Amino acid sequence: MKSIQRWAALLMALCLLMGLMPVHAEHPPPHEYNGPWVTEVAPTCTTSGRRYTICTVPDCGYILYDTLAATGHKWPTEWSPHQAAGCTTSGSIIRFCLNGCGSSEVKYTDPLGHSFGGWTVVTTGNCTVAAVSQRVCSRCGQVETSTTAAPGHNWGAWVGVKTASCTDVGVDERTCSRCSEKQTRVIPALLHNWGPWTTVLAPTCQATGISRSVCGRCGIYQDRVLPKVAHDWSAWTVTLAASCGTKGQETRTCSMCARVETRSLRALKHVSDGNWITVRAATLRQRGLQATTCTRCGQHASTRTYAPRGYRYEVWARGFGPLAGQASSSLSGLTDRLIAIDMLQEGEHRFPLTTDDGWQIGTVVATVAGGTLKVSLKQLSEPTVLREKQWQLFSGLHEVNVLSLRAASMPFDMPVKVSGPVAIFSVSTLTNYYQGNENKILHEAGLSPDGSSYTELNERMTVLMRGQGSGRLTVGP
Ligand SMILES: [Zn+2]
Ligand SMILES: [Zn+2]
Ligand SMILES: [Zn+2]
Ligand SMILES: [Zn+2]
Ligand SMILES: [Zn+2]
Ligand SMILES: [Zn+2]
Ligand SMILES: [Zn+2]
Repeated sequence: MKSIQRWAALLMALCLLMGLMPVHAEHPPPHEYNGPWVTEVAPTCTTSGRRYTICTVPDCGYILYDTLAATGHKWPTEWSPHQAAGCTTSGSIIRFCLNGCGSSEVKYTDPLGHSFGGWTVVTTGNCTVAAVSQRVCSRCGQVETSTTAAPGHNWGAWVGVKTASCTDVGVDERTCSRCSEKQTRVIPALLHNWGPWTTVLAPTCQATGISRSVCGRCGIYQDRVLPKVAHDWSAWTVTLAASCGTKGQETRTCSMCARVETRSLRALKHVSDGNWITVRAATLRQRGLQATTCTRCGQHASTRTYAPRGYRYEVWARGFGPLAGQASSSLSGLTDRLIAIDMLQEGEHRFPLTTDDGWQIGTVVATVAGGTLKVSLKQLSEPTVLREKQWQLFSGLHEVNVLSLRAASMPFDMPVKVSGPVAIFSVSTLTNYYQGNENKILHEAGLSPDGSSYTELNERMTVLMRGQGSGRLTVGP
């Protein structure tokens, strides 16, 4: 109320200034509003308006204001099309406020969906090709495609077209009941059905045989060579019996090829009866011979030589003098004996002919005459055998050696020129002799016929050979 009074005072002051003289006077309440309401601002659909009325007490002039509420829109029940819907896009409808405020309301509508026509076959399918059909939307032209997968062939059973054999393949066939397509398959060759190996030609020792295997299905056959077999020998049969010293023979025969094989039988040895019989009596020329008798053939089974008691064969005999080794140390070990004679001592000189086993069997007669030397041998016993008689002459000990002692013999019983003052010589012979009768054992320590011992005689000859002293050396009978 204070504000209204202030506003009224302001209005009266304004009237006074303008020369107007509105009468305004305070009056006791209340104000009285008997006049009309005046709409100052009309309300709209969405904004409020205002009205006023003036106090009718004279000279008050008080103004009362009142708010007018917003009216709100007034919508019609009918909608108007706004935006057309498509096959797959939404449309809309619209309505405007009847109060003329210009406000509108929009509502969306659903898509219409396609409007397809009938299906059209694009690809006709079969067993192995998919079927394809299409249809088109009459509104937007969209194409829809329908595919039906290929079902595959509907094969019938396999039917043999060609039968397989041992060496050739077979063929089977089957057909699709839907499309009549044919399919083949190959049956491998059966291979031969070989039977067991059977000998159709037996081998022999001369020819190979044949073994055969036949195919039980096709009758073809294969052969195999059977090697030759060994001969079928009979037992060995003696065709010539072996005898003492003579080979025998036995044979065998092959029953298949009649071939004959021969081999020899070892010769038999005599079978001795063990009884030694003298076949040939012993002499000094030759040993005796004894033999046993073969109990099978009666010939000599074995033989042996024999010497009677005292009979000696193949013994060396030498002119008796010092051993070569005794005269010179370089000849030691030799059984040869050397004889030395002073060539001034003319006449006969006798030396024993003595065996290496110590028997005197003869005499060496050396004759010195006029610078020559003749050597002869005399045996004591007439049956004594002398072989390979030889003598070698040396002018000094320096000429004596193993080779010169085996050199060719000087002639016996013939004078041989001696160059030096002393004759050195060696006499030897192989002898068969009898240890008895005229033959005697020679005792070196015993007395020689000249009265000195053989030992002394040898010492004197050794001195003579070495070129010292001289003297008569002849000994013996
Ligand atoms: Zn009033
Ligand atoms: Zn409105
Ligand atoms: Zn469409
Ligand atoms: Zn088919
Ligand atoms: Zn076959
Ligand atoms: Zn044979
Ligand atoms: Zn015999």
